[in-house]
Amino acid sequence: MKLERILPFARHLLEQAVGHGDIAVDGTLGNGHDTKFLAELVGDTGMVFGFDIQKEALEATTARLQESNLHERVMLFHKGHEETLQSIPPHYHGQVRGAIFNLGYLPGGDKSIVTTAATTIAAVEQLLDIMAPEGIIVLVIYQGHEEGALERDELLQYVKGIDQQQAHVLQYQFINQVNNPPFIIAIEKR
Ligand code: SAM
Repeated sequence: MKLERILPFARHLLEQAVGHGDIAVDGTLGNGHDTKFLAELVGDTGMVFGFDIQKEALEATTARLQESNLHERVMLFHKGHEETLQSIPPHYHGQVRGAIFNLGYLPGGDKSIVTTAATTIAAVEQLLDIMAPEGIIVLVIYQGHEEGALERDELLQYVKGIDQQQAHVLQYQFINQVNNPPFIIAIEKR
């Protein structure tokens, strides 16, 4: 057998958590690959909320969704994921089943604009409040760039401190690869 690689494993977790009619969140739109994947999972009766601070990311994601005619089931916010709680309409609170944060910089974009642990932690805390029990938050952590290593350290310290009565936290990582490859933290709300 082949051990599941990092990005396929992230998607596998989301597939298990999110189904037709569900509510999901993409905390970092980037080029919209994950948003499209979530939009397919929720089907035409579900809803995806997506966040990014860069206009380019919203444009790329909108184009990708329109190409596949998935745009009507997605609501995009041109703001940081740290505004999750106030952005997702209250009647969806308690119903979010899956969320993904593909961290780091926009591929093909400005590499100086990166995610930071402070906003990711704020978003995770807000999501834990508005997720359904057994909802999953998947963090894909890129530790290969300088700010990524800092972000990794702060995020690991934070997730290790989450009360086990509140959530289960999993780390999925290949530990003998060179060049600090990305790894996953998955948080399951209890
Ligand atoms: N999921 C994307 C995809 O499928 O193409 C890749 C995401 S990319 C690695 C990271 C993105 O996070 C960038 O587009 C960046 O602008 C965005 N970002 C940085 N800080 C953010 C914040 N506070 N809230 C939301 N997005 C943020």
